[in-house]
This record gives sequence, structure tokens and C-alpha cells, in this order.
Amino acid sequence: MSFDLVLFGGTGDLAWRKLMPALFQAFRHGTLPEGGRIIGVARDALTDQQYRALIRSRFDEVELAKRPSAEEFDRFAALLHFIRVDLSKPADYRHLAEVLRERNAETVVMYLATAPSLFTVACEQLAAAGLNTPATRIVLEKPLGHDLASNRSINETVRRAFSERQIFRIDHYLGKPSVQNLFALRFGNSLFEPLWRRETIANIQITIAEDLGVEKRGAFYDSTGALRDMVQNHALQLLCAVAMEPPINAHADAIRDEKLKVLRSLKPWSALALSQEVVRGQYAEGVVNGEPVPGYRQEAGVDPDSPTETFVALRTEIANWRWAGVPFYLRTGKRLAARDAHIVINFRPAPHAIFKSPLGAANSLVINLQPRDGLELHLLAQGADNRRQQAALSPVQLDLDFDKRFGSERVGAYERLLLDVIHGRLNLFVRSDEQEEAWRWVEPVLDHWAADTEGPRPYAAGTWGPSASSAMIARDGYCWSEAC
Ligand code: NAP
Repeated sequence: MSFDLVLFGGTGDLAWRKLMPALFQAFRHGTLPEGGRIIGVARDALTDQQYRALIRSRFDEVELAKRPSAEEFDRFAALLHFIRVDLSKPADYRHLAEVLRERNAETVVMYLATAPSLFTVACEQLAAAGLNTPATRIVLEKPLGHDLASNRSINETVRRAFSERQIFRIDHYLGKPSVQNLFALRFGNSLFEPLWRRETIANIQITIAEDLGVEKRGAFYDSTGALRDMVQNHALQLLCAVAMEPPINAHADAIRDEKLKVLRSLKPWSALALSQEVVRGQYAEGVVNGEPVPGYRQEAGVDPDSPTETFVALRTEIANWRWAGVPFYLRTGKRLAARDAHIVINFRPAPHAIFKSPLGAANSLVINLQPRDGLELHLLAQGADNRRQQAALSPVQLDLDFDKRFGSERVGAYERLLLDVIHGRLNLFVRSDEQEEAWRWVEPVLDHWAADTEGPRPYAAGTWGPSASSAMIARDGYCWSEAC
């Protein structure tokens, strides 16, 4: 299959840190279809050779196992080309169109790895230059808007040039092997499905914790915050994967229809819920992995009086038959105690206790997303102390480590998603109505914070966020997984 992958923002951070390494891995694994071109596009005047040299030098910063040998890079580099395009200049699109037409590839992927402010002009000009043929697919990176209105406006512009089946909105969490395993666990096995409901599940916790701060992206983050950067997209997509009904088949729209229903069923925010069931925090200086680190307001590019949240914890419910009354707790933040993303399904305790159970030892299923990918089933068993008739049970766990089982050579998120775009598979991409529904749901929280003069609660870097987060979950009689 011949393809041209046009990488707008081809010299940018996303291109060299994530996309090029992912494309190289696909090339190394032999899964990148032969006969393809990868065309970097930016305003610099680079020759193909200069672009190849730039990408080669950037690979020095990629982790060792994912770095090409000199011989591998030479073969990969033959796919790389560069075209100078200023996205604000119509003439440059006409030149791009001429270059693409010369080859007339079966599939043309336009990957917009540029600032979202350029999306509108890029889509309009691609259409004006006739670059929106049915062979074209367009890939959009987050953030797709700042709120519901801006998200809608981007979606409307893109839809004027491309049909929905040509639009691939990336949420790279959906490309993670661990998230695919969540779908496999739920819909490839019958074991858990009868238990996956309000009668047996007490609560569900979704945590995406980062130990890093804002790194070099202080200015971007300061205008974004954790709710827009992580909750509106990644955390809500995980919630959908956990809570959706089994789709009628594995086709993209069947899956996306079910995710949309979950988003539509999220409990609307009341004034009370906004004040008691959402906690926003901001990291102060502290110690992470044994090293002292500055507070958020001291980071480069951040306003010293910034009210931007680097932590969010919230409680919600899903108003449908399966989940009515079951609390879902979502939590994400920067500079937390560990890099750890996981989902905990806490089952209800046995209805009639004939054994002594240790406090807090709920039956639970833990879905580890990162850094480990696997499943832990936490159960109670009769342990060594079985001499007395009324001996307490001991917690034990079944531990499935998918990295060990399937090897570390598994396909990474961007590699998987880029191959899906080239092959036209939309399952792991977000439809516009899903995205708009997610914005609609987070917007009252944004409005509430904009009117709230108290600002975020400080927490010491290297901890699990403000104490109000633990207090919020404790009001229901539960605790976050690391504290139970
Ligand atoms: P970046 O490092 O600033 O790169 C921007 C790229 O766009 C450069 O190649 C730049 O090259 C090009 N560009 C800017 N203005 C242009 C114009 N008028 N015409 C043509 N090319 C232009 O940004 P980034 O970090 O790669 O981020 C790109 C997008 O991905 C952003 O929306 C970001 O939020 C999103 N994103 C980034 C990451 C990440 O890890 N970096 C992760 C998720 C999402 P020239 O200036 O030479 O033209």
C-alpha cells in the first residue's frame, strides 16, 4: 500500500520525541507498509538531507532500546523528506499539492502536530488546494479547544473540509496496550461481566499520577491546567472504557456509540457537588524521588500568582441501570508521589461475615496502566495463622504482568495509532460528539473555578495531593488505594 504521511510541525517537539520514534519502531517491526513517504513540513528551509540529519541527531535523546543503529537509520531515512510550508500562506499549500500529486499515493495522512491555533487555517487551505480527496485522512492532536465553544468551532471547521470518517482525533491513552487490555478483559472474557455492575461493585477509582512537573511546557500548561489537559480527555476516556456497555461489534462507531452514552449519563453538576466533590490543587515545593523540586509558581513560564490547577480529584456517578449510585473517583496531578496510572474496581464486601477480615481489605481488581501494564486480583485467603478457629483472613493477590508475559517489544501507543491511521482504523480515535460531550460535562467546573477566588489548594510536591482529596473520598467511607 503506498502512503504519504505529511507531518505538519515536522521539526517540533511532538514530532521528534513521539512520532518519529513511533514510526521508526513500526519500520523496525516491519509493520509500516512498504512504499511510504514521511514528509516533514515546517517553515524552515531544509533540504531532505538536512531534515534527515536533524531527525538523526534527535534520536540521540530517545531511550537506547528505541534508537536506530547507523544502518537502520540509513534505511529509515530513505523514507524521510521535507517540504517548506508556512501554514498561513495559501501558495505553500499549492506547492505541497503538486508534490503529492506527482506520486498520487493510495493514502495521504495529514498529521497536524502544530499549535491548535493553526488548525482552522490548515483545514481551510488544504481544502482550497484540493488536498481533501477521499484518499486523505487528517490527524488532530490535543488540545482540541479550550472549552465547548472552541472545540465545536474546530470540529465545524474540520468537518467543512473532511468527513467524520476521515478525521482521526488522537487520545494517545487509547493507544496504550494497557487500555486495549481493559477492552479485552471486559469484552473478550465472560468472567467479570456478571459482576461488572452496581450490585457487586462498591466504587471505582481512576488515578493518573505523574511525578514530573511541567518541565519545559510551563507557559502552555499555565493556560491549560489539569482538568483540560488530563480529565476532559484521558481520564474520561478511561472512565468510558470501564463503564460502557458491551458494544454490538468491534467497529469504530459501535464502540464510540457506547462511550458517548456513558458521557451523556454522567451526573450533572449541582452547586453542592461543585463545592464538595471536586478538589483542585497546585504543587508547592517539595521532594520528589529524593530530590528537592520547586513549586509550580516558581517554574519557568508560569505566572508567579497563577491560579492554574496541577491536581484534580473529583467524584461522579453514572445515571444508568448498571451504575446508579456507584461513585466513580477520578484523580490526576503533577509532582505526585509516584508515576502511576491505574484503575481500582472495589467490590462490595461479602454480605454475611463468617470470617474475620482485616480492615480495608476489600476484594478488588486493579488494572495497572503505567508504568506497569497488568492486572491484580486482590482476594482474602486463609493464611498461615489457621490454628485458631476464628483466625483472620489474609490478603493475597493474583498478579498478571502483561509486560513480562508479552515482552517489552509490545507496540507503543503512538506506533499503534499511527498504523491505525495509515490503515484507516478509527476504533481508537475519538468522535466529535464524544469530545463535545466531555467538554460539556467539564465546563461547569471550569466556570465554578473562574468565579471562585479561593484558588487551588497547595500540596507539597511528592505527596498524593491536597488532604481535601482524601477527605472527599472519606465522606463516602472509602479511601484512595494507596491509603487503604
Ligand atoms: P513545537 O515544538 O512548538 O513545534 C511546533 C511545530 O510547528 C514546529 O515544527 C514549527 O516549525 C511548526 N510551525 C509553527 N508555526 C508554523 C507555521 N505557521 N507553518 C508551518 N509550520 C509551523 O510544538 P509541539 O510541542 O511539537 O506541539 C505541537 C502540538 O501538539 C501542540 O498542539 C501541542 O499542544 C500538541 N501536543 C504536544 C505534545 C508534546 O509532547 N510535545 C503532546 C501532546 C500534544 P517552524 O517554527 O520551523 O515553522
